[in-house]
Amino acid sequence: MNITDLRGKLPRHASKRYATRKLTDIRSIAIHHSLTLTGSAAAFANYHVGTNNWPGIAYTYVISQDGTVSQCLDWTQVGFHVGNSNRHALGICLVGDFRSQKPSTAQYQAAIKLVWYLQGNIPSAKEIKGHSEYPGYSWKACPVISMSKFRADVAAPAAIQPQYPAVRILVNGRAVASGVLIADRALAPLRSVGEAAGKSVSWDNVTKTASVDGKPVYGQLIDGVTYVALRAVAEVLGGTVSWDGPSKTASILVA
Ligand SMILES: [Zn+2]
Repeated sequence: MNITDLRGKLPRHASKRYATRKLTDIRSIAIHHSLTLTGSAAAFANYHVGTNNWPGIAYTYVISQDGTVSQCLDWTQVGFHVGNSNRHALGICLVGDFRSQKPSTAQYQAAIKLVWYLQGNIPSAKEIKGHSEYPGYSWKACPVISMSKFRADVAAPAAIQPQYPAVRILVNGRAVASGVLIADRALAPLRSVGEAAGKSVSWDNVTKTASVDGKPVYGQLIDGVTYVALRAVAEVLGGTVSWDGPSKTASILVA
């Protein structure tokens, strides 16, 4: 994921500072629109500091209409964007006024990839919510886009971007069904890998959750197949994984 790092480069308050939190405090990713037809991280930071008198920009990330992703705060900084829920939410703002505009395709896809990236690195950030879905904000026209569609697109990215590079996966030296490479992250098909490792893999159609030997596993559903990040697969199987970049081959060893 290509991210422009603007941390420390944006206007901030002369003396006020945001509180900090532990990564595990982050439970959700909050989606906003900027409510402005145009804008940038610098413009929002100016407004949040100069007009609102806040410590800094409200959002951890800003995604421009051309799909550029800018990181504005550390994950552990508690920006002001969803009131009482700030401590447990990480804010992403898509530039635009979605009452009259739509996110551009590049911007929408960048948002999806950013959520994959964040959920891959912050396992506690399980929920994805629109600003208006937070307690006390049902009146707020933010982010206006359908959050149920956005969550479905995060879970089933094949509908948006059908082509992914394939990844070769070996379990104890034997090839199993191919994985996929999405946003520089290798994902393995859970059932094939789990069964090749001699585990029992099941699927709960009500909660849409896969489990291995009864233990739930968080993954992404692509064309009806649950894919899970390699490291998480190895962890749930009690094995180790090694990755060879040039041949795009993952080798999982399970005792
Ligand atoms: Zn908002």
